[in-house]
Amino acid sequence: MSVGDFDVLFFDLDGVVYIGAEQVHGAAAAIESAREQGARCIFVTNNASRTPDEVARHLSALGVPADPDDVITASMAGATLVTAFIETGEVLAVGGEGVSAALLDRGFTPVTAFTDSVRAVMQGYGPNVGWHDLAEATFAVRAGLPWVATNMDSSFPTIRGIAPGNGSLVNVVAQTAGRGPDAIAGKPEPGLLQEAIRRTGALRPLMIGDRLDTDIAAGSRLGMPTLLVTTGISTLAEAMDATGELRPTYVAENLSCLLPDRHFLAVP
Ligand SMILES: [Mg+2]
Repeated sequence: MSVGDFDVLFFDLDGVVYIGAEQVHGAAAAIESAREQGARCIFVTNNASRTPDEVARHLSALGVPADPDDVITASMAGATLVTAFIETGEVLAVGGEGVSAALLDRGFTPVTAFTDSVRAVMQGYGPNVGWHDLAEATFAVRAGLPWVATNMDSSFPTIRGIAPGNGSLVNVVAQTAGRGPDAIAGKPEPGLLQEAIRRTGALRPLMIGDRLDTDIAAGSRLGMPTLLVTTGISTLAEAMDATGELRPTYVAENLSCLLPDRHFLAVP
């Protein structure tokens, strides 16, 4: 198989396109080449704090030109999941700008305190989320409101080390409220990639990621071919040992497998 076999490529970001503040070596050239070969390149991220505009500007600054329309976040997928519970109204928004922007985009009114008019809760990562936000979310969840988490990543890497991710903060609310979220959008749950398919109309997509337990599992759950690149978390040996939804369709050392005349190595 090669790039020409797919109409849309879904790229995970951390460990695939960039690591920290640096582009993964060769990623920009590979993505430019894939576009020249006719594949649409879409960036799918469990990070709910940033808006698509912010992610697109970050990618462009790293040398990977991207428009906001090329970015699908867990907040966008989370706001879609909220529509399964309520059609309109106030939603308690716990998280960064990405969470409230996605709710607004879906026609909801994001608010920061629990009152009688609040009808659902959406919780995503935001660096300014504090005790008051978690308390408001707990009040709302204990009152029985539907609760959507953008993602359940327990941690993420920062320049100073591993820091608590949204899953850890969701668990604070869950422990206090005595129950977990009603729906989760981010990988490995299928909502994020379903959002990406819905927004792009992809017919023959390929999911490209660096983690078997999130990226590859999410693609597998939707019956989508998957490509593991070993520039991030998961290794070639782990890919070869993986079974079930964790087993990628293809594996490559890096994104240069997208260059013309290259083919993906199928995992036997
Ligand atoms: Mg990653």
